[in-house]
Amino acid sequence: MLYRINSIQMETKIKQVTNCGYCEKQLHGRKGKLFCDVNCKNNFNSRIRARSREQENELFPIPIKKIKNNHRILSKYYLARLQKDKEITVKKEELWELGFDHRYCTGATLESNRNLWKCCFDFCWKEEMNWLTLRFDPEMNTKYSY
Ligand SMILES: [Zn+2]
Repeated sequence: MLYRINSIQMETKIKQVTNCGYCEKQLHGRKGKLFCDVNCKNNFNSRIRARSREQENELFPIPIKKIKNNHRILSKYYLARLQKDKEITVKKEELWELGFDHRYCTGATLESNRNLWKCCFDFCWKEEMNWLTLRFDPEMNTKYSY
C-alpha cells in the first residue's frame, strides 16, 4: 500500500518536470514555468523573430540582396565623412563594374522638379550621362517626394 502511494507520487512528480523552452535545462520553481529566466525567454523570442526574418528574405531574395549590395558598394566611398551638402562624382562604369544596380533603391526624391535623387538608406545618388553624383543625406531617403 505504501509502495502504491509512492508510485503515484513519483508519477505526478515526473509529469511536473519540464524543460526550458530555450536551453532545455530542467526547470525548477513555480508550476507552468516555460523558461529558466528572462534571458532564456528573450533568446527564445529572438530566435523566433530571426527565423521569420529568414523566411521573409527567402520570399524577396533579389531586391534585398541588390539593396544590401548597393549599400556595401556605396559605403566604400565614405559618404558619411563628407561635409554637409558636399557631393562626389564617380564614373558609372566604375560602379557598374563593382556590381552596383541603380534600379534598386529605398527612396527617391525629385529635387527642384528636375533632378531625380535615389537613395540606398543614407547614401543618395543622382544619375547623369556618364557619372553618378553621390551624397550622404539621411533625410532624403524618407522624403518620397516625386
Ligand atoms: Zn533556459
